Amino acid sequence: MSEKIRPLIAGNWKMNGLSASLSEIALIAEGADAHSQRLDTLICPSATLLVAAGARTAGTSLAIGAQDCSSETHGAYTGDVSAAMVADSGARAVIVGHSERRQGRGETSADVKRKAERAVEAGLQAIICIGETEEEMLKGATQDVLLRQLQGSVPARSKSSSVVIAYEPVWAIGTGRTPSIDNIAGLHAFIRTSLIDLLGEEGRRMRILYGGSVKPDNATEIAGIEDVNGALVGGASLKASDFLAIVKSF
Ligand code: PGA
Repeated sequence: MSEKIRPLIAGNWKMNGLSASLSEIALIAEGADAHSQRLDTLICPSATLLVAAGARTAGTSLAIGAQDCSSETHGAYTGDVSAAMVADSGARAVIVGHSERRQGRGETSADVKRKAERAVEAGLQAIICIGETEEEMLKGATQDVLLRQLQGSVPARSKSSSVVIAYEPVWAIGTGRTPSIDNIAGLHAFIRTSLIDLLGEEGRRMRILYGGSVKPDNATEIAGIEDVNGALVGGASLKASDFLAIVKSF
């Protein structure tokens, strides 16, 4: 029987939020503490807010993470932020391979794997995103795409303590549309089986988050699905009340 996996509820603020939004992070930290026995919480603001967000949440159970890192360790890469820099800011995690970077910035699974490797080397938890486009879903290619992305993006010998998978159907991100509960269940089961094939026992324990239009009104249903071990929340993570309502559902 599978042991209970501790859920992670992560918020991805994308390119939103200025210093004034730190008060919202403080509110999230306050509310999240009540649930810290049961689950982990994480907010990923812009890189410019990492240090200040870490300071505002010090001593709380809310962790702070980044939304991306470089696949290189250091050097002549103007504008890029290395995993070591992210860790040095006090952040504990980093999202890699979000579809807005795979699609919008042309990142390949090989790039994503290198970023995840750099993140883990720097002592960060890597949240590796995978997900099919609407076109791939309509063609019936979802499982092929997910398997290819897992095989290409997840470093060999990844540990469940330092790597998290986030399944985010691209067509569900920011659209208010989600797959049916049965579809989410089937795909998370498929990802679980694939992770066990790739990583053995570690794959059995690795967290698999669902992401894509998770809101307070659908979170309870999604949280009840086997092999959904948390959520990656975009829009609804910007408001403390919405994010905390989702946290409560898990
Ligand atoms: P959404 O975004 O919750 O706004 O759909 C999720 C994500 O992109 O991580």
